Amino acid sequence: MSRYWSSLVAKLDPYVPGEQPRVQNLIKLNTNEHPYGPSPKVIEAIARANGEDLRLYPDPTSLALSQTIAKYFGLGVDHVFVGNGSDEVLAHVFNALLKHDAPVLFPDISYSFYPVYCGLYQIEYRAVPLDQNFRIVLNDYLPSAGAKAGGIIFPNPNAPTGICHDLDAIEQVVKANPDIVVVIDEAYIDFGGVSAASLIAKYPNLLVVHTLSKSRSLAGLRVGFALGHPDLIQGLDRVKNSFNSYPLDRLAQAGAIAAFEDDAHFEKTRQAVIHTRESMTQGLRKLGFEVLPSKANFIFARAPGVAGEVFAAELRARNILVRHFKKERIYDFMRISVGTDEQTETLLQACQEILAQ
Ligand code: PMP
Repeated sequence: MSRYWSSLVAKLDPYVPGEQPRVQNLIKLNTNEHPYGPSPKVIEAIARANGEDLRLYPDPTSLALSQTIAKYFGLGVDHVFVGNGSDEVLAHVFNALLKHDAPVLFPDISYSFYPVYCGLYQIEYRAVPLDQNFRIVLNDYLPSAGAKAGGIIFPNPNAPTGICHDLDAIEQVVKANPDIVVVIDEAYIDFGGVSAASLIAKYPNLLVVHTLSKSRSLAGLRVGFALGHPDLIQGLDRVKNSFNSYPLDRLAQAGAIAAFEDDAHFEKTRQAVIHTRESMTQGLRKLGFEVLPSKANFIFARAPGVAGEVFAAELRARNILVRHFKKERIYDFMRISVGTDEQTETLLQACQEILAQ
């Protein structure tokens, strides 16, 4: 606390990112990074861009990248907004599209950055409880459910549960709420879900947010984007150009374009993650864990008879990092990112050891 702070800063409750350890040799399964590297074509493109003139500002509109993304999704370039990680895109979304008189709705157990943006931009929100199976109850987001909403946002698959809804269910929510923006945060969609991007031409109130941090293995490059009707994109552009007109540097733009140009690498590595997720789920269930059905690159699991926080600390003592949330309903759970097969084997052995002691 300082007397130099604004009254807003004093009231903020900032997001706490997962630990990025400075020690070597840890098995890092705490921040949902991809276990395999990005396409070698990304590295080549960044090296080439690095050789170009960094003296000059980058393209403020990231036009070439937006065109690449538009083509990939079969949309016009005016349907694409890019930002410095999807966290930045989401921040602009809250500010530009979800700040209204009525509260924005999102699940009570979800991406913990959402209430943080509400704090920063002073947006009222209502946290809608998941059901007892930790599923989002989509009926609660229909206008017939009662209270007026100023906007809706949830991840699909949800985080940290990994549970995914099918496209029909998502469409019902979008269709039933034509007067407000419905944002589907698809950070993890490439690991087994179906994207709502195909609905964009039909619904001017739908915004779909993606990141290159997960399925494209580029968390370190910081690139995310939103897809939606040009009116929504223009709203985001207005906020972006009132905040930072050059959010993506030259290296990030070049690397992100190359990532979309290597489908073979994308397919191979995401299939590998999906495959390991299934063997990890089976392995943990055999040990007596409750594992929620995941379509993401992580699983949400509860150890038999050991509290999540204690179990996570036991894993940490064995050089394995997982994420635990100090939140009432999910206190017993751990979120474990999918690693390589070898890392998964080590994880399962450690879990067995902890349960046996
Ligand atoms: N949405 C969800 C649901 C996430 O879990 C994350 C990762 N923390 C993000 C968005 C942000 O990802 P990034 O800023 O790396 O694009």
